This record gives sequence, structure tokens and C-alpha cells, in this order.
Amino acid sequence: MDIQTNRVVEIHYILKDKNGVVIDSSEGREPLAYLHGTGALIKGLESALTGKKSGDSFEIVVQPEDGYGTRNEDAVQQIPRSSFEGIADLEVGMRLQAQTDAGVVPITVVDISEEYVTVDGNHLLAGVTLYFSVKIESVRAATPEEIAHGHVH
Ligand code: ZN
Repeated sequence: MDIQTNRVVEIHYILKDKNGVVIDSSEGREPLAYLHGTGALIKGLESALTGKKSGDSFEIVVQPEDGYGTRNEDAVQQIPRSSFEGIADLEVGMRLQAQTDAGVVPITVVDISEEYVTVDGNHLLAGVTLYFSVKIESVRAATPEEIAHGHVH
């Protein structure tokens, strides 16, 4: 069975950056299961999977535009340190949840000075070119319930 919209697909994958450093991998875990055609995966990966079959493996390079997006420098902001008073162990690299007009957004602390904390609201992989190795483990038709819910059961 080939991969089309409303089929449940299981894949194993390794994701590397341009230097060959592994960013993420399903090795040693259960394969990743998703409902095809629902935008569950990044665009570049999902479109590469369309039409492939169980047992196929392939490599693909996904540009940021088809991955986690390009970086938005407006998402890097300096916030008065007083806003962080409740956080005792504040440090560079810490991930926090920010309440914004658009809802809760994950941010990363990138710099701390006496007066300001600089945070970055970009996805950690924004602007990163993604190198995937993918193996398709299984493909099956989704159940009506899975299609109605938009996810795998
Ligand atoms: Zn459900």
C-alpha cells in the first residue's frame, strides 16, 4: 500500500544538521506513527513521503521554508529582568512558556544581563536545513474514527 491522504504511516527516521550531527532520531524507540495528509509532519517531509511504500527508504534535504520556517529576528526580544523574578534558576538555554496575544509560545533564554533577559521565540530548528534518512515501516488505511479525529489511535 502506498502513502496517501488518510493512511496511517509508521516511519523510522534520523534527522541530522548540515554537519552530520544527529538532532533527532527514532532509533531505539517505537517508529513514529502519523496520519498522512493532516500536516502532522513538516511539509517537506510529508510531501516526500507521498506515494512511497512500506519498506522504502530514502534520504531528503528539507530547506527551512519547508521545515520549521525561517528565523524571525522580531521574535528575539529583551524583557526587563524584573519580569522573571519568580524564576530562581534562570539561565541561558532555559525553555519557558510565554503568554502572548497568539496564545502560549515556547521561548528560549539566549542572554541575561543585569537589566534584561533576551528571549528567542523562534523554533529551535527555525532557519536550519534538515537532513533526513527515512525508512517506512508500515502503511495502512486509517479507520473512520481516526480520520474524524485527525490523528492515529
Ligand atoms: Zn482520537
